[in-house]
Amino acid sequence: MKFWFSYRGFLLPSAHYRVSLLVRWLCVLTLGLAGAGTGLAQVKELNIYSARHYASDEVLYANFTKATGIKLNRVDADDAGILARLKAEGSASPADVILLVDATRLWRAEMDGLFLPIRSTTLEAAIPASLRAMPAAGGGTAWFGLSTRARIVVYDKQKFKKSDLDTYEKLADVKFKGQLCTRSGSHPYNLSLFSSMAEHLGPPATEAWLKGLVANMARSPKGGDTDQIRAVATGECGLALSNSYYLARLIRSTKPADVKVVERIGVVFPNQANRGTHVNVAGGAVARHAKNIEGATRFLEYLASPEAQRHFADGNNEWPVVTGISQDNPALKAMTGGSFKSEQIAISALGRNQVKVQQMLDRVDFK
Ligand code: FE
Repeated sequence: MKFWFSYRGFLLPSAHYRVSLLVRWLCVLTLGLAGAGTGLAQVKELNIYSARHYASDEVLYANFTKATGIKLNRVDADDAGILARLKAEGSASPADVILLVDATRLWRAEMDGLFLPIRSTTLEAAIPASLRAMPAAGGGTAWFGLSTRARIVVYDKQKFKKSDLDTYEKLADVKFKGQLCTRSGSHPYNLSLFSSMAEHLGPPATEAWLKGLVANMARSPKGGDTDQIRAVATGECGLALSNSYYLARLIRSTKPADVKVVERIGVVFPNQANRGTHVNVAGGAVARHAKNIEGATRFLEYLASPEAQRHFADGNNEWPVVTGISQDNPALKAMTGGSFKSEQIAISALGRNQVKVQQMLDRVDFK
């Protein structure tokens, strides 16, 4: 078949080839318009790297897929594992959404350039500015807090009473010598609490306080938060630090051993009479090299919806970041008596202070 012919010195397509070119051009135009008009509809899968391994979250993921048709592929690891993986994968990373469970880790990932700052009027309207990253230099926000958890004090009711330890500062009192149990000082939950102390008290007072904590320890730091609560209930320690949802889980448990633990211990939300109790966030971000930015943003927006926010409270014993969400979790009510005062600082300060705090921990030999 002849595709081209010469007419007065110009090379022109043959009649048959002209029809073929027109058909091809129309095809390209049609597909292009369809693609532009249904950007989200084409996002059929999202890859999520998640440090939230809470069985109750499965319902959330299933509901998102039901509502959007977007399948979620999840990689579960802890915060540190996810950051290491993202760094190793670089621009080849398949991750679209990152979910982490601590503000210092979210901040670290932001500083390491692992997140893609996004603009979302939905997220900006729903989530208070103090519970998300500071605005990025090039615009947008690198990460958003999606739920909060308090770092509380648990004590042995046979040894102490609430008023003995109504502030974090009192944990360093000499009267508690040999009583304190905690997980490692450099675990993100503790780093965040200690960074909050540095923000409120200043570095010198915080270092002196940390030294007091080390002097009061019942044993060298080990285990997770639930282990500390159980150690209080057996009498091994008089007091311990824990994230609130670990205690809430025990309160909701019907296992006889857990019921016994809860009977023996008391709980304090420290500093209610002044600055409020330290709260940390679990949060989310769009990955730096996300292929499905629009779908990833939509997923984060879903996690800030009233349905998902209520679920964080009722399912995993956290508190919503969105104000005005009604939740009905009896364990949260039992712990707080209804509500509590949380500290009011920009959550990004927790990340900013962590290097300083880690140096203090090394100096005071906080394991
Ligand atoms: Fe945890």
